[in-house]
Amino acid sequence: MNGFDALELPSALREAVDELGFTAPSAIQAQAIPPLLEGRDVIGVAQTGTGKTAAFGLPLLAAIDPSRREVQGLVLAPTRELAMQVAEAISSFATAIGGLDVVAVYGGSPYGPQERALTRGAQVVVGTPGRIMDHMRRTTLRLDQVRFAVLDEADEMLRMGFAEDVEEILSHSPATRQVALFSATMPPAIERVAAEHMKDPVRVSVTPQSSTVDSVEQSYAVVPFRHRTGALARVLATSSADAAIVFVRTRAAAEEVGTALVARGVIAASISGDVPQKEREKIVERLRDGSLHVLVATDVAARGLDVERIGLVVNFDVPREPEAYVHRIGRTGRAGRSGKALTFIGPHERRALKNIERATKQKLAEAIVPSPRDVSKHRAAAVLAEVPARADRGRLELYRELIGEFLAEHEMDPLELAAVLAATTVGDDGPGTASEDEEFTSATLAGSDRPDRPRRAEPGRAEHGFTAYKVGVGHTHGARPQSLVGALTGEGGLRGKDVGKIQIFPTFSLVQIRGGLNGEQMQRIGKVTVAGRELRIAPDQGPRGGRGRRDGAERPRRGDGIPPWKRTERGGRDRDRLAAKKHAARRRRD
Ligand code: AMP
Repeated sequence: MNGFDALELPSALREAVDELGFTAPSAIQAQAIPPLLEGRDVIGVAQTGTGKTAAFGLPLLAAIDPSRREVQGLVLAPTRELAMQVAEAISSFATAIGGLDVVAVYGGSPYGPQERALTRGAQVVVGTPGRIMDHMRRTTLRLDQVRFAVLDEADEMLRMGFAEDVEEILSHSPATRQVALFSATMPPAIERVAAEHMKDPVRVSVTPQSSTVDSVEQSYAVVPFRHRTGALARVLATSSADAAIVFVRTRAAAEEVGTALVARGVIAASISGDVPQKEREKIVERLRDGSLHVLVATDVAARGLDVERIGLVVNFDVPREPEAYVHRIGRTGRAGRSGKALTFIGPHERRALKNIERATKQKLAEAIVPSPRDVSKHRAAAVLAEVPARADRGRLELYRELIGEFLAEHEMDPLELAAVLAATTVGDDGPGTASEDEEFTSATLAGSDRPDRPRRAEPGRAEHGFTAYKVGVGHTHGARPQSLVGALTGEGGLRGKDVGKIQIFPTFSLVQIRGGLNGEQMQRIGKVTVAGRELRIAPDQGPRGGRGRRDGAERPRRGDGIPPWKRTERGGRDRDRLAAKKHAARRRRD
């Protein structure tokens, strides 16, 4: 007896389900498959991991006549990665159907093979809207025989700006075709697409299991963008959660924030929608088994993620829709555990906060971001908490003796020595000495009127206290910020907090290193390999040895050789303001 027996799937699909080892339909499959097999349109609110691909994939195949070599099934997906995954899943459901071909079409790869598969008569096309439009224009793809169309991760497609393409594609398919729309959230824009292109759709939905907003303690903190990485690091450092997820909006932000955390010594990794499924699963497994503490993720990448150890969710930025907020914070407080969620908002984003409060019918408490002092206190408290148990274990004679000798020799107050030992064990420099980011406290926020934009270092220019070095690997070789940080702190022997901003160019990268490197360090790091190439690290000489431009970077201005601490306060600020103005003007032009 198999739970799929009740679903009346055609025998070839029923066989495939057995072959795949599915013993019972998942909730979304049990709800969506019957109406889809009856020919109804379906709107499914479900995330990755719920089995949604089979929920639409099996009925799609059931609607196809494999003896006719024309496109009858069409699936639109937001990313190349998802298109490939869905095509692969549908192919696996179709193994027992003779003569049925599935083709994936997506941007960034040659047209030839995709065109050949289309002209050979594939019956199912899975693709990204942009590339599907391209094939329609080239007349290699005709949609006039489509019987079953699917919009997968519809909210993500609209968010990525595919709304018009999706509309256009749907309007080129026959009005008689069936439509299945799957989405994790249902913003009004999706309701509009549904109203326009679907007939009396059946609505089905699965809520993320055992997670309700009620079991999550929610708060927010006003943090201008440029202080967020420092604030995040301090929130993580003082959290008692076993594991945490940090949500960001874009793939680039996921990488940037992940790298910044790794550089600060946090055991973190980042995933975005572009990370292949296999790698994603490996990372999630590490989060589950405790070898990874912090995951930085985009909304798409974290869909369906179910890890009980997650005790904290930090929204690095405010999610665009309240539903995304609910989904994000639902990653914690699972399986009856309690969880916390903290959302960073900009000084001008109170409206977004109000929207979330309205949608969740809960007020978010304002949290105070821990200061560097709080971090040191938290760490020292953890060290001191161990003291009684350690004292009970004894075998301290040697240390007592050594301390006695030391105190006699140095005429030191025992309290002073205990403080030094505590600071050494905690391993920080003590509050008040850290970098600019770390100096941010909530007090500096009150009068903050800075634009809520990320601050970027200009290429080649080292930040205060850092020296810029050039390494011989760039993104054409496959260098990524995380691999560079890993190499510098691993074989390179640097401390994470000494690795500053990393900028990757096509054929080389710039890394900023606190305090610079000595000859021996340069030699050692120079031999370390990233993406199979030696780093061959050398002090950065600026664009073309200081004369030309670098990858569209601005020409260095006169006076830039003066270290910031030697500039007059006013001059430095004016220059910064000028640079910010120029930057804003360029942004507007772009
Ligand atoms: P999806 O949400 O479509 O990405 O599916 C998530 C995973 O669940 C995939 O690895 C599927 O192969 C698997 N899966 C889907 N349906 C079932 C089922 N009824 N029983 C067991 N596994 C399933």
